[in-house]
Amino acid sequence: MRSFLEKSSDHHSQVLSVDRVLHHGRTAFQDVLIFENRLFGKVLVLDGVIQLTEWDNHIYHEMIAHVPLMAHGLAERVLIIGGGDGGALREVLKHPVREVVLIEIDREVIELSQRFFPDVSAGAFSDPRSTVIVSDGIEYIAETESHFDVVIIDSTDPIGPGEQLFSEVFYRRCRSRLSPGGIVVVQSGVGFHQPEPLANVCDRLAGVFGTAKPFLAPVPTYAAGALALVAAGSSGKALRPPKKILQEQFRPLEGKTRYYRPEVHRAAFTMAPVFGQGRT
Ligand code: SAM
Repeated sequence: MRSFLEKSSDHHSQVLSVDRVLHHGRTAFQDVLIFENRLFGKVLVLDGVIQLTEWDNHIYHEMIAHVPLMAHGLAERVLIIGGGDGGALREVLKHPVREVVLIEIDREVIELSQRFFPDVSAGAFSDPRSTVIVSDGIEYIAETESHFDVVIIDSTDPIGPGEQLFSEVFYRRCRSRLSPGGIVVVQSGVGFHQPEPLANVCDRLAGVFGTAKPFLAPVPTYAAGALALVAAGSSGKALRPPKKILQEQFRPLEGKTRYYRPEVHRAAFTMAPVFGQGRT
């Protein structure tokens, strides 16, 4: 394999050169490809879709973790659904949380990530505050009686095993597992190429929570536009606290993030009047 082509729509693709294939195989749930590219470093691909690269994963992981945790301010218990690479877990553990439960459907993603991307989880799986459960997030949320301050849906796109993680029923269940003042955040794809999934996430979360706010993270490997994440909670205002409050809360994290900072948090929620209007 000399190059890897990722199709973002019927009329657009991106191509990365492949310097070396490190792993290619099928798990019980999906096709997994790991290769090296001179610009991005090691690249993890699931079912033909790039999940992360060594070079830019910090942007995604910092934004999916620090935006809801900083907005909450006092999170002690956090649930991550998906995220088997351990990057979101790594960022959540930078906060003084008591417990983080990670529910990943595919054991092989966890094992391969630890083997080929040790710096992404950076020891997070063996942190005493981490509980890792190999299970379907849909089943876990339907059965658990636990409550969480922040729920992070770090899933694949709404095709394959991640599909049901984008349903209204699932969001309703997430809400029932939130402590008062709790926040949920959802990976929602690149709005320019995937306007429908983003609109669905916004509508469904707003239907369940009364308010849902998209925010953006410019991750170079998610081709053709900024990645959208959507946050929801009992109050829309709480998701984007005033700069002064964020700055105070950020002090213990100073020097521990490369992309996230209070100004970026606030700016990420600022949308152009028309967003996600790309044609598929
Ligand atoms: N950064 C990412 C992206 O590009 O979308 C997401 C990364 S993370 C690797 C996504 C994980 O979600 C995968 O490891 C996948 O196995 C997991 N996943 C998909 N469906 C799931 C489900 N129903 N329950 C739990 N985990 C699931």
